[in-house]
Amino acid sequence: MNDRYLEFTHSPFGKSLASMLGLPTPPRLRRADAPWADRPLEATPVVLGGDSGAALAAPLLKALSGMGAILRIVPEHAGLAPIKAAAAQMSVALAGNPAPDSGEPRSQALVFDASGVASPAQLREVYDFFQPLVRNVPGNGRILVLSRAPQSCIDVGRKTAATALRGFVRSLAKEVGKNGTTCNLIEVETGGEGWLDAPLRFFLSVHSAYVSGQLLTVGAHAKATAVALPGSLQGKTALVTGAARGIGAAIAEVLAREGARVIGMDHPSQEGALGETMAKIGGRGLALDVTAPDAAERIAAETEGLDIVVHNAGVTRDKMLRNMTPQQWDMVLNINLAAILRINEGLLKKGLNGGARVVCISSIGGIGGNAGQTNYGATKAGVIGYVDAMAETLAQRGGAINAVAPGFIETQMTAAMPVGPREVGRRINSLSQGGLPQDIAEAVAFLASPAAAGVNGRTLRVCGQNWFGA
Ligand code: NAD
Repeated sequence: MNDRYLEFTHSPFGKSLASMLGLPTPPRLRRADAPWADRPLEATPVVLGGDSGAALAAPLLKALSGMGAILRIVPEHAGLAPIKAAAAQMSVALAGNPAPDSGEPRSQALVFDASGVASPAQLREVYDFFQPLVRNVPGNGRILVLSRAPQSCIDVGRKTAATALRGFVRSLAKEVGKNGTTCNLIEVETGGEGWLDAPLRFFLSVHSAYVSGQLLTVGAHAKATAVALPGSLQGKTALVTGAARGIGAAIAEVLAREGARVIGMDHPSQEGALGETMAKIGGRGLALDVTAPDAAERIAAETEGLDIVVHNAGVTRDKMLRNMTPQQWDMVLNINLAAILRINEGLLKKGLNGGARVVCISSIGGIGGNAGQTNYGATKAGVIGYVDAMAETLAQRGGAINAVAPGFIETQMTAAMPVGPREVGRRINSLSQGGLPQDIAEAVAFLASPAAAGVNGRTLRVCGQNWFGA
C-alpha cells in the first residue's frame, strides 16, 4: 500500500505546504536496486574514530577499505592511535575530514570503534567524536558504533561503559532519523572480530535502509569458513514459506536477486498467486500447508538439500483474550510457531545441507505486546526464544539460525488495519514511515548468507526504530 502522505510531502505543492504549516516530512529512503556490490562505498567518504584503547581498528579498516570507502579522520581527536597504527601497518591512507564549508563532498558515514572504552569518563571520547560531526551527516547517512559486547567484558567499568553505548545509540538514532540517517551498534563478543565484514557491509549500505536504533551481536563461529558477502548466495537452494505475497514474496525476490535457487511454499489455497510470484523470479512453487504433519518430509522429498530456510508464513486472528476462541488461539500458535519447530526438527534429520542457515520471522508485537494479540504476541516472542535455543544445534552443523522482527510494514496485513491505527503505526518510528517488504527481505538475505556466520541466535528488528517495545 502507498504511503500517500510521504508521496504528497515530496511533491512540489506538498513540500511547500508542509513547510508552511510546519508539518513533518518523512524522508525518502534510498534502497537497494541491485545485488550486494563488491565495493558498495566506492569513493564514498567515511569519518573514522575510536577510543584510545580501541581493539577493532584492523578488521574495521580492512572492511572499509575493501568496500572502497575514502577514509577520513579528524586529526585533533584523541584516541586515534589504534586507527593510525592499523592504517600504517596495512598501508591504508587516512585523509583529514574537510571543513563543512570547504566544498568537498560531505562524509556519508561516521564509524566509531568504542571497543576499548573502559569507564564512564572515557565515554567522553564518544561524545567528542560525534558531537561536532553529527550535524553534517547528509540524508540517508549512516552512523555506526562498534563496541565490545557487555557479556564479553569482565571488568565492571568496561561492562558499564559498553552497556551505556546502547542508550547512546538508541537516543542518537532518534535524533538523526529525520533525514533518513540510521544509527546502529555492532557488539563484538570475544572471537567475533573475524566476522565483522558482512555486518559492516549490511549496516553501512542501502540494504539496511529501515534498520535503525538496533544492536547486533557478532560472536565466534568455530565451524564456519569465512566467505565474502557479495555472491555468497550464488547457487544456494532456499525455501521460503508464505512466499505467494507480501513479505515472503519480497524475500523470495531478494534471495533470487542474490543468485539463490528459490522454492516458494504457500498454502494450497494460494497456489495461483504462488505460481505467479515464482514465475517472476524463476523460482519453483510448492503448495503445502506449513501445519501439515508431514510437511518436513514433503519438503525434503521435493527439494535436493536446502542451504537456506526462511520461516515467514504467518497469520493474525486478533481478539481480546476474553473473546478469543480456542480455534483462534490454536490456529495462530500452530502456523506461526509450532510449524516452525516441527518442520525444522524434520529437516534437521533429512533435508538440510551442512552449513544451512535458518531465518524466522518474528515481530515487534512479540517484543512490545499488543492488546488483542495474546496469541500472535506469544508466537512471535516464542520465535525469539526458539532461535536462541537452537543456535548451538545449527552452529554444530556449521550453520546458524536467527530471527528478523519487522515493525510496521506496508503489506496486505497492515492495509487491512483501520485507518487511524494504521496511520499511527506507520509514523511512530524514527524514520516516520512504514517499511517495505524489501526491507525485511534485505535483512533476511544478509542473515541467510554464510558471510554472516558470526551472527547466530539473534533477533534483528527491522522497524525504523519503532517506539513500540523499544
Ligand atoms: P501476508 O498475510 O501478506 O502473507 C502471509 C503469507 O503466509 C500468505 O501468502 C499466506 O497464504 C501464507 N500462509 C498463511 N498460512 C499458511 C499456512 N498454513 N501454510 C503455508 N502458508 C501460509 O503477511 P505479511 O505481512 O507478508 O507477513 C509475513 C510475515 O511477517 C508473517 O509471519 C507476519 O506475522 C510477519 N510480520 C508482518 C508484519 C507487517 O507489518 N506486515 C509485521 C511484523 C511481522
